[in-house]
Amino acid sequence: TEKNTPLIAGNWKMNGLATALGELRSMAEAAAGGLAASVDLAICPPATLVAAAAAAAGDSGLSIGGQDCHTAASGAHTGDISAEMLADSGARWVIVGHSERRADHGESDALVRAKAEAAWRAGLIAIVCVGETEAERKAGKALDVVGAQLAGSVPDGADGARLVVAYEPVWAIGTGLTPTVDDVAEMHSYMRKDLQGRFGPSAASIRLLYGGSVKPGNAGELLSVDNVDGALVGGASLKASDFLAIAKAA
Ligand code: PEP
Repeated sequence: TEKNTPLIAGNWKMNGLATALGELRSMAEAAAGGLAASVDLAICPPATLVAAAAAAAGDSGLSIGGQDCHTAASGAHTGDISAEMLADSGARWVIVGHSERRADHGESDALVRAKAEAAWRAGLIAIVCVGETEAERKAGKALDVVGAQLAGSVPDGADGARLVVAYEPVWAIGTGLTPTVDDVAEMHSYMRKDLQGRFGPSAASIRLLYGGSVKPGNAGELLSVDNVDGALVGGASLKASDFLAIAKAA
């Protein structure tokens, strides 16, 4: 099977004022300078910056995403943002089910699945996040937990054109810890087989990202693992130099 074009996606979380658009412009410049020819590049800034980021990125090849969306297109949901609003602001992607949303806002697999469906309704590509906690891995349950999250969070009809899955072990996010390459290989192969079992051969085109403390120093090793089609990068996506070094390792 052909290798998928790698995707390096940055998650800025609740970081970034308008001054951060300078970093984004540097990323866009590198994308337009040739980097985007071999790697898909995306930054998911806070919602307040999506429109400005999309304008700054222009047609550089760097694309912009949201970090969450509501399930409804509009309505009485004070403070929430719909997938349609993100698309209207220039977003192409939206992260759903990040472990921080699952933990801080009690998001269930069913809700994450409905959000992914909302993303599709709006024409966005959903980046669905899954991953076990440290206790779950220590108990030998990592594969089962992720399998259940995939079954519950990924909508029917998924294919590589509108779904990306990010495997993000909760204990590796923001900690500087990463799983061994063998553990990443095992999980990604498991996820590929699981998705193929459900969606058939078209699941080969679903990009499976690894996320959790990806840095310039470990990106090459993690990105070379079988069935790792890119990375979801938190802290190291805030600086253009780090993000671009990771993208160049892809
Ligand atoms: C994330 O939040 O998606 C993430 C992977 O964070 P970090 O790279 O900072 O561990």
